[in-house]
Amino acid sequence: MTTQLDAAVLDRVEGVLLGAACGDALGVPYEFGSAPLGASEAPRMIGGGLGPYDPGEWSDDTQMAVVIARVAAARGLTDGTALDDIVDGWVEWLEGGASDVGMQTRAILRSVAAGRGTPGSAGRALAAGHELHRRTGKTAGNGSLMRTAPVALAFLDDPASLTLHARDVSDLTHPDPVAGDACVLWCHAVRFGVVEGAMPDLADLVVELPAERRDQWAAWVAEADTQPPAAFAPNGYVVRAFQAAWSAVRHPAAEGTPLVASLTSAVHAGDDTDTVAAIAGALLGACWGAASVPESWLADVHGWPGLRADGLRDLARRVVERR
Ligand SMILES: [Mg+2]
Repeated sequence: MTTQLDAAVLDRVEGVLLGAACGDALGVPYEFGSAPLGASEAPRMIGGGLGPYDPGEWSDDTQMAVVIARVAAARGLTDGTALDDIVDGWVEWLEGGASDVGMQTRAILRSVAAGRGTPGSAGRALAAGHELHRRTGKTAGNGSLMRTAPVALAFLDDPASLTLHARDVSDLTHPDPVAGDACVLWCHAVRFGVVEGAMPDLADLVVELPAERRDQWAAWVAEADTQPPAAFAPNGYVVRAFQAAWSAVRHPAAEGTPLVASLTSAVHAGDDTDTVAAIAGALLGACWGAASVPESWLADVHGWPGLRADGLRDLARRVVERR
């Protein structure tokens, strides 16, 4: 099966990266309560946050996603050295462009950097992740889910490979199987959105997960179907971030188009606002397309490595055109 890249599909392809980046930049000012946000107030891309960031600037969520997308556009994600390239790109980012970095990701990338010169960055990342997991038992932060969407673009026509590679890319920094599950499920949702131009029913997609965890994930999805995003704060745990993002899709704010109203709702989840909104934004952009992103957001959104909206559009297209 080959998806025809007509204008509508390409709009949704671009929407994946633009939706995520705009969600990120919209959530940045309010991360961990950095700026106040009234209950009925619409969030704005005013910058600040943990960086501090310029108005419209995206954060680590989009920065790390861009690294994945660049590798996918240049050579695809189907072999082990692609994973090395991704890890090398993240190490370069950590040393040269990172504005803020999650603790777990930082620990692993520092460990990889310390071993530079020997082959196999991905192997070193995996080893560092397993060591961290052995020591702490906690490697299921939201840091792999926040950056996962470009993987879906690389496998639009190959759902079986998407299941494998979404997990492989997650595992590079987040070895807990639940973090990999979240990435697999969200990537399939994004892929469905791009291909079908409609919002999937997430409960239908749990078949992509290992059989022993499908019921658990269906229950987590059902919880998010019925409760507002704020019910899932704190949302640093990948499952809570996933639920907050899906809840924002299912419980849009009163004002705005579906994409705007759900991103508003995502930021009102509180806590890790940019990450929840970046996760939600990728899926919303996949379903409703770049054309649904407000012009003012497109004009303002920007960030490392010196990209603006047009640069993200081009990058997203190059990933799908390379397939
Ligand atoms: Mg961030």
